[in-house]
Amino acid sequence: MANKDYYNILGVSKSVNQDEIKTAFRKLAHQHHPDKGGDADKFKEINEAYQVLGNKEKRQQYDQFGSNFNNMGGGGFDFSGFQNGGFSGANVNFEDLGDLFGGFGDMFGFSGRSSGRRESPSRGDDIEAILIIDFKEAVFGAEKEILLDKYLKCDHCRGNGAEPGSKINTCSTCKGSGRVFRVQRTIFGSMQAEAICPNCQGEGKAYSQKCTKCKGHGIYKGQDKMKLKVPAGIDEGEAIRLSGRGNSGVKGAPAGDLILRIRIKPSTEFKRVGYDIYSRIIINVKQAILGDKIDVKTVHGLVVLKIPEGTQSGTKFKIKGNGVTKLRGGGQGDHLVEVVVNIPKGLSKKDRKVLEEIKL
Ligand SMILES: [Zn+2]
Ligand SMILES: [Zn+2]
Repeated sequence: MANKDYYNILGVSKSVNQDEIKTAFRKLAHQHHPDKGGDADKFKEINEAYQVLGNKEKRQQYDQFGSNFNNMGGGGFDFSGFQNGGFSGANVNFEDLGDLFGGFGDMFGFSGRSSGRRESPSRGDDIEAILIIDFKEAVFGAEKEILLDKYLKCDHCRGNGAEPGSKINTCSTCKGSGRVFRVQRTIFGSMQAEAICPNCQGEGKAYSQKCTKCKGHGIYKGQDKMKLKVPAGIDEGEAIRLSGRGNSGVKGAPAGDLILRIRIKPSTEFKRVGYDIYSRIIINVKQAILGDKIDVKTVHGLVVLKIPEGTQSGTKFKIKGNGVTKLRGGGQGDHLVEVVVNIPKGLSKKDRKVLEEIKL
């Protein structure tokens, strides 16, 4: 993995403070957001840079060791596979459902991600992927089962990185403390800065033999099959965050989160706007003139609609309820049906005669 210049990516100098990094990131994230026509790769790069520089401890490590200091992190996950196909399976358990938030706009505020939980430098990375669901699954909710490529805790060494049975020694770099000190020369004189030991990643131990399965990282790239519940009412672009279901952390560190952004396959019969559903129905001239009772198909089944006499083509009728269940409670949206009057062509002589006698 090439050593990336994260400062350059965010367009800041090495001397800026954390707030300035945040400001620069927000500005760039807005500018390059894929939803606003930005380049997804550039956006990912900006994100990656901020994941490191936005965190004081990670930034310090980066300053010292460059972007490879945590090379089991970021770039390893193959995001592209999900973009193309999405998940084919489907499945959510409400307990698994962390917080829901409207669109990625909120998410990339990042306040939730960067605060509190990032104290551990080896915490597993979050995984962001797209979950494609059917129109009706979004309306009614669904259980989905997904297969996810991610870093899993190694089952061979139980995550500690040592080949089972091998001897465990004290790390020679940090003498078991898990921390290293380096002397920094600044204009104020020499200062000592503390960082996590790069040799043992803070564990303080060295293993005489590294685990053969995970090469000592304690995690390996594998597949995780998981069930999840998509809540009724979720809409295009909204996301589901599953806490701790992202990449496993190095050597027992907490796992990252899994963030699934929802894409909804369009329906041929219905169109959804918010929690309301729209459809169209064709009636004949006689029904339009005289009125009638017709069956209208809604997502909840057939509903009888009374067409009043003298209904104009293009008239919309609201069927109360019968829309999408509101995600955060508060009932359902409505079903709105547009009536289109079909004007017949090529009438028989008899019909024509009858029609000509009618006074309109
Ligand atoms: Zn292992
Ligand atoms: Zn060490």
